[in-house]
Amino acid sequence: MRNALSLALCLTSFATPLSATELADEDDVSLAVPALEQPVAVSDAIPLELRGALELLGGEVLPGEFGTLYWRPVQSFQSIDTPVPVLVAHGESPGPRVCLTAAIHGDELNGIEMVRRLMYQLEPASMSGTVIGIPIVNLDGFRRSSRYLSDRRDLNRHFPGSPTGSAADRTGHSLFNQVIRQCQFLVDLHTGSLQRTNLPQIRGNLKDEHVFDFSRQFGGITVLHGVGAKGTLRRAANDVGIPAVTMEAGGPHQLDEQAVDAGVQSIETLLENLGIQKSKRFWSAPQPVFYQSDWVRANQGGILMSKVKLGDKVREGQVLGSVIDPVTNSGSAILAPFDGKILGIAFNQVVQTGFATHHIGVEKAAQAVQEDAIERDLTLQPPAATLSDCVAQSSAETETQEGSREATSEC
Ligand SMILES: [Zn+2]
Repeated sequence: MRNALSLALCLTSFATPLSATELADEDDVSLAVPALEQPVAVSDAIPLELRGALELLGGEVLPGEFGTLYWRPVQSFQSIDTPVPVLVAHGESPGPRVCLTAAIHGDELNGIEMVRRLMYQLEPASMSGTVIGIPIVNLDGFRRSSRYLSDRRDLNRHFPGSPTGSAADRTGHSLFNQVIRQCQFLVDLHTGSLQRTNLPQIRGNLKDEHVFDFSRQFGGITVLHGVGAKGTLRRAANDVGIPAVTMEAGGPHQLDEQAVDAGVQSIETLLENLGIQKSKRFWSAPQPVFYQSDWVRANQGGILMSKVKLGDKVREGQVLGSVIDPVTNSGSAILAPFDGKILGIAFNQVVQTGFATHHIGVEKAAQAVQEDAIERDLTLQPPAATLSDCVAQSSAETETQEGSREATSEC
């Protein structure tokens, strides 16, 4: 219902002149250019009577107000279904509409706390635009501390879904059509999966200009290219013209204060750059840092012990950790294949041969990362970041109820 062009026009119309990232070279960031010429005058020009209520999910939220609506995915039988709360901060003035989704994987807690912190600091009376936050999309999995839906399917492989398909298809279809299609921008919040943790980072299909521009509005955060696996929410949103990224921060089953805080700061910066609400915080390094990245895998099974930490800089040939067979006492070292920074890491655990243990990124210029992604696409080479998007395909599959193998990953 909205094409990419209209989204871009909307964004440029409502952006404020002040950017939290204090861009030195505005020509580099197309979204930021018109902001200096067109501050919030657009919203001022719309008469109050035309600034309507937000109508969503059969309810409405008036301009300048905060409301809670409910999405009913019908995951069980209707009489015992629990509706999923959807928080809405609807600005007094018109502006972009940003959606935040968390806990599509029910065991990923950091995003839930990010949505809470972000939503409850918004001031709709002075906002220009709307923020819709769903703290716990997969309420069903969250209650069981599980990544999956109750049918053991990964909801983030069932978008945009189908009204006549499996339970996961129907749930995906319901969320996508009742909420996501109303978004002009989407940030889907995740953590590392299956005993892995990630440095706070944005992932998006940087080959798409609108996603590329969008990914540059989050302040000084790590940005990686990845098209996103088929069926992921962000890919489905991109396919209908909604710029969408995944934000990864920390690991599952835990609340990581630092990761939560970094993620919230990043989204605050996004809202400022979109002209929705000013951020009270400033980045010491305001520009996003783009990386090309790849995972390093264990060449044998056994007990994994890392010698490096998340965020460490490593040199080619450096020992990242070791894997030791606990019965034979034979082991092998995991070596860094190139210089870089540890963007993701597996917790110490028992691993199988081929398990992805360390995610190393090499810093590059934003355009270089984008060009590389396009070039790899043209030559049909799998992009390196495909691994980072869906790292666990070979090492951590799970049986679905039908007995088929379903890949699981952190995205
Ligand atoms: Zn996830």
